[in-house]
Amino acid sequence: MSTPISTVTVLGTGVLGSQIAFQSAFKGCIVTAYDINDDVLVGARKRFDALADTYAREVAGATQDDCRAALDRLTLTSDLAAAVNDADLVIEAIPEIVDLKRETFAKIGDFAPAKTIFATNSSTLLPSELKDATGRPDRFLALHFANRVWQFNTAEIMGTTDTDPDVYQRVVEFAKGIGMIPIELHKEKAGYVLNSLLVPFLHAAAELAAGGYADPADVDTTWRIATGAPLGPFQIYDIIGLNTPYNIMVHGDAESQQLAAWLKTNYIDQGKLGIESGEGFYKYR
Ligand code: NAD
Repeated sequence: MSTPISTVTVLGTGVLGSQIAFQSAFKGCIVTAYDINDDVLVGARKRFDALADTYAREVAGATQDDCRAALDRLTLTSDLAAAVNDADLVIEAIPEIVDLKRETFAKIGDFAPAKTIFATNSSTLLPSELKDATGRPDRFLALHFANRVWQFNTAEIMGTTDTDPDVYQRVVEFAKGIGMIPIELHKEKAGYVLNSLLVPFLHAAAELAAGGYADPADVDTTWRIATGAPLGPFQIYDIIGLNTPYNIMVHGDAESQQLAAWLKTNYIDQGKLGIESGEGFYKYR
């Protein structure tokens, strides 16, 4: 039986990296969070403090003491070699730029000990686009979290044909250990499970509204009543933030690009970016 993963390093302290690091520390792992320089780390410290407050407010049973203990298990550094030199698992959550990710995996491939498992949180890249850069394709896979990990707690796990099944299983156990529901993909699929469903769904909703067939609120009402789902597609747009779907559509075919233009003109250019900006398809206080 392999030893459980207990020492975790997260590369990138942005939206997802900070959440993955805090969630792992909250569940008892010793966590190192790496980012590119000390200025960025000042912002990261604020993100972690804000996450501690959010957990104390939103996570059932979480006390202020639990959240402070999580912060105590978290170390921040801008020294990449030191960040990975004793990690059981490194989770990469840096910007979605293939060359940057490959460069970073090549560097940590030199710095990390042989035992270390590498994972990418990439939403759109397949792990096989990165695996050779790691120098250890048998100990590499994708481990994909959703935004607001403490609430939307799926962890999609996707290896390549080179991933050692024992490594895969250890990561499944790790995901469970930090409170995620592991979703095991049996082979590589762009978009994993969630985005394979969600992207076409949001696209179809935009077609209805942009084409003038139905108002966003009526599309949502239809979906909620007819399927029993708690949220309609435009409520989901507002949660995600409109920039992310825009960026996907604008790189798609001609029809997708028309939908991107519709989102931009009618919403994004008017500052309607979703819940974070106070208004998207709906208004928020
Ligand atoms: P982000 O822009 O919020 O954060 C990226 C962080 O990486 C920043 O703190 C930045 O300083 C840091 N960074 C930049 N270059 C770096 C380098 N060379 N080494 C280490 N850190 C570096 O991005 P994000 O939204 O957290 O996304 C990160 C990854 O997570 C992406 O691959 C994305 O596809 C994936 N992801 C994002 C979401 C989401 O909802 N935002 C959901 C699931 C997966």
